[in-house]
Amino acid sequence: MIRAIYPGSFDPVTYGHIDVIKRSAKMFDEVIVCVMYNHEKKGSLFSADERVKMLQTVTADIPNVRVDSYYGLLVDYARKVGAHVSIRGLRAVTDFEYELQIAQTNRLLSGGNVDTVFLTTSLEYASLSSSSVREIASFGGDISVCVPPVIEKLVKERYKELALAGGKDEQQ
Ligand code: ADP
Repeated sequence: MIRAIYPGSFDPVTYGHIDVIKRSAKMFDEVIVCVMYNHEKKGSLFSADERVKMLQTVTADIPNVRVDSYYGLLVDYARKVGAHVSIRGLRAVTDFEYELQIAQTNRLLSGGNVDTVFLTTSLEYASLSSSSVREIASFGGDISVCVPPVIEKLVKERYKELALAGGKDEQQ
């Protein structure tokens, strides 16, 4: 039984992430998609719990995938759930340098117990990132090619809420 972890921010989950999840679910017995929130970026659009729920919704039809969240180091989470594989996606050369460093550090920190498996992006999703989804949506742009309809709805609602909250602030 090989259990793998797919860690990330997923703020919000995109078709690029879903593609990596589906492909890795075919390679491993169990895939745990884990929202890592130790590096909760300032200005996160969704809370960790919200991101977990979104991921659960879009992976509900994949039986060997479960979703979790963790505050801490990936190597500690891997030990906790008994996993030795971390999955990461590579879109471009720019991802590589950053990902290589994380992969080597995780291997070192885990005493060789956590290896990283890289999946190269599917071409149609090569330019997709959560940050570009947030940027497009913040200007009211069309994100339907980037995220499933259920996520699109939640992202739009969140920006509406933020706009209303901003409006209220300005009035005060
Ligand atoms: P991070 O927290 O490092 O920004 P994300 O949460 O955005 O990572 O994504 C988690 C993982 O999914 C990363 O390894 C990232 O490279 C990968 N990923 C994100 N978008 C895509 C995509 N369109 N195609 C392939 N991999 C992707």
